[in-house]
Amino acid sequence: MKSAQTYQVFHRKQLDKIPQVRSLSAEVREAINVVSAVLPFRVNNYVVDELIDWSRAPDDPIFQLTFPQRGMLDEQDYERMRALIASGAEEKAVKALAQEIQVGLNPHPGGQLEKNVPSLAGEAMRGMQHKYRQTLLFFPAQGQTCHTYCTYCFRWAQFVGIEDLKFFEKEAAPLLRYLKKHPEVSDVLFTGGDPLVMRTAILSRYIDLLLNSDLDSLRTIRIGSKAPAYWPQRFVTDPDADDLLRLFERVVASGRHLALMAHYSHPAELETDIAKEALRRIVATGATVRCQAPLIRHVNDRADDWAKLWQMQVENGAVPYYMFVERDTGAHHYFELPLARAYEIFSDAYSQVSGLARTVRGPSMSANPGKMCIDGVADIAGRKVFVLKCLQGRKPRWSNQVALAEYDTKAVWLDDLKPAFGEKNFFWDRPEEEILHDAASQRHQIWAAEA
Ligand SMILES: *Cc1c(COP(=O)(O)O)cnc(C)c1O
Repeated sequence: MKSAQTYQVFHRKQLDKIPQVRSLSAEVREAINVVSAVLPFRVNNYVVDELIDWSRAPDDPIFQLTFPQRGMLDEQDYERMRALIASGAEEKAVKALAQEIQVGLNPHPGGQLEKNVPSLAGEAMRGMQHKYRQTLLFFPAQGQTCHTYCTYCFRWAQFVGIEDLKFFEKEAAPLLRYLKKHPEVSDVLFTGGDPLVMRTAILSRYIDLLLNSDLDSLRTIRIGSKAPAYWPQRFVTDPDADDLLRLFERVVASGRHLALMAHYSHPAELETDIAKEALRRIVATGATVRCQAPLIRHVNDRADDWAKLWQMQVENGAVPYYMFVERDTGAHHYFELPLARAYEIFSDAYSQVSGLARTVRGPSMSANPGKMCIDGVADIAGRKVFVLKCLQGRKPRWSNQVALAEYDTKAVWLDDLKPAFGEKNFFWDRPEEEILHDAASQRHQIWAAEA
């Protein structure tokens, strides 16, 4: 096997250190430099040397996935930033303009800040999000970067240094306190960033505390990560790779489920020997790998790529889980696809794989009322409609409900859709369903009342 590599990472200021970048055209290099002044950029040597097909750049999907592209900023913002940099402006001026552009890019979509941050004894739990009853998201402070940043990342605001936009928690104790008060939570999902940028010794401080506390209500530990795609060495050759696998085994030995929620965007990420070896080693611990990714124009907007991706996941012992719709944040205008197109791609790919890969659900939007899937397109009484299905509801009773929306070839997000047949509202925005704003405590009361 190639690549028992040492980890090397490149930022904006180190572009010249990447030989493959030096051979790109001047326009493409300028675009990387200008756009990465505004949106996060970071790439590691494995992605550069083994995943990107440089003979196909800039069209190569992994290049589009990891290197900033000119179309990610609108013409005017691009030109302002280009001119400022060309004038030799100081870093401070570049940062100021970058921030001005960033706040115009909807840094926190889906009401994450106002609606999902829970509180305990009146104190906001900054490193957590609790939207769906069973599952708590936890953002460990040391896991808030990634091995490589995805160009379309919906958490990009975390990485650009706008301090008050950051979610994180340094300690494990508040997590334990919260879980003890919330026995309805069966799943904790460690997320970021990427929790697997943390060394095993640090990650295990959080996880072992949960395992060693008498917390029967916690049944599943999930880790959301792109390490299997961007740095499979994490599970194979890193100095603490074996320690990480032992940690997975401890979770399994505690009688709990360990779900590695792996982010694979494209079949190229599963083609290297080390990527397959990483999956083999993870699955051998008794963990389950479930796979999810958004559908992204320029990266994975072909049904055949999804069919191949899901098939490869199954072959390597992983489970296809979600196809998401690109969120309405950051450079979404460059990456988004109409919902009607997303549904076609999903259906085409779905029809190419056997039932074992049809555990996948989508295309799903993580929108304000919940995870809303385009579950079908139907003709009813002479009208073409989208059949929407709520996979996860902000209110539990919304889950598994369906709604009909007028078919629309331009709509890219839930907010663009209108209820079909002249209805005024969807079930989640009827006046009596008004979403409560002071999330956690009130939501808990709702859950308690519904239970
Ligand atoms: C997707 C998501 C989850 C997990 O949902 P599952 O359907 O159980 O995988 C939890 N919290 C938030 C905020 C989410 O967006």
